[in-house]
Amino acid sequence: MTTLDLAVAGLRTQLVDLHRELTRWNLVVWTAGNVSARVPGADLLVIKPSGVSYDDLTPESMVVCDLDGNLVDGELSPSSDTAAHAYVYRHMPHVGGVAHTHSTYASAWAARGEPIPCVLTAMADEFGGEIPVGPFALIGGDEIGRGVVDTLNGQRSPAVLMRNHGVFTIGSDARAAVKAAVMCEDVARTAHLACEIGQPIPIPQNAVDSLHHRYRNVYGQH
Ligand SMILES: [Zn+2]
Repeated sequence: MTTLDLAVAGLRTQLVDLHRELTRWNLVVWTAGNVSARVPGADLLVIKPSGVSYDDLTPESMVVCDLDGNLVDGELSPSSDTAAHAYVYRHMPHVGGVAHTHSTYASAWAARGEPIPCVLTAMADEFGGEIPVGPFALIGGDEIGRGVVDTLNGQRSPAVLMRNHGVFTIGSDARAAVKAAVMCEDVARTAHLACEIGQPIPIPQNAVDSLHHRYRNVYGQH
């Protein structure tokens, strides 16, 4: 086995586990949603096959594509969102993982085309501000990928609410992208509930900056 084969095999296994996280946190229904990972050191990505039930995902069922979304290795067709994932990897070299869900509360904000305001310290931590809204885009070509990249470029937020659609998240690896998807739904839900019972209080920008900096640089195990 070459180093590349080993890397791909590792990512196939990791992606099975990460797709389980999408169901564990109730971020997806039926076969909607997908996670991909960039293969380090190669112009390749590994992604969920199209239309396969979450219960039936195996390492072997995952699909390897080039960064134009063309099938390179796998028995099944790649996810119909592959073009969007590939566009992100082509245009954001620091991104190692992408996740996509239609999680309920975040998609409700997307349906209204409204960014989620930064009204929780957990949002300042993970997203460094509001979670922005990207354009309405049809599936198929580069439209979705371009919307994701154009919206997230220069932003701290690893999540974008694509209008009338759902959530795309990015991360340094696939696990970080899935974590952002889980956190996005959690804060979308709380912010929604807060809006239902009153007017949420925005966190001052200097406090957002300080929380985000601490979370990125001090929090957790080092
Ligand atoms: Zn979708």
